[in-house]
Amino acid sequence: MTGPTQRPLLFLDVDGPLIPFGAAPEQYPNGHPTYQTPRDPRGAGSNPLLARINPAHGPRLTALPCDLVWATTWMDDANECIAPRLGLPRLPVVIWPQPSDVDEQDERDGIHWKTRPLVDWASGRSFAWVDDEITDIDRAWISAHHRGHALLHRVDPSRGLGDADYAALNEWLHTMRGTPSSHDAA
Ligand SMILES: [Mg+2]
Repeated sequence: MTGPTQRPLLFLDVDGPLIPFGAAPEQYPNGHPTYQTPRDPRGAGSNPLLARINPAHGPRLTALPCDLVWATTWMDDANECIAPRLGLPRLPVVIWPQPSDVDEQDERDGIHWKTRPLVDWASGRSFAWVDDEITDIDRAWISAHHRGHALLHRVDPSRGLGDADYAALNEWLHTMRGTPSSHDAA
């Protein structure tokens, strides 16, 4: 299935990138901004955090030259609760291992519990990973264990995805256009 014309994946976290949290009171004295969407007549619905999702992310994410994949603890709920607010179709969802199955050595080494499953899921295909919990340990592990190209892009959770993040993603994804992954080239 993997081919040189295949677009990179974009693994998208929700809490932090799409639902900002933890801003200092002086940053937002009245709390994080909230948004109503016509698709959600009940407003925030059962989870008030959903109101923090800016619907403008939908078209901006869709415009990126990549295939979006949910990479979040929301799992299937991302398609139920979040995709409709953004005007996105249902997307593939990464299923995580049970906490008891997370590699203990990885934990001791400081590797994020998502890192190994994402590399497995990508299976050599180039990907961007957008998350607020990425560290250099994950970057090092992925560059050693993933056959394709990868951009690990950390988002400041107090602000969420912003212009600079989209610019960085766009730039990297456009350099990937027509670039076979090292897996394909091998
Ligand atoms: Mg997060």
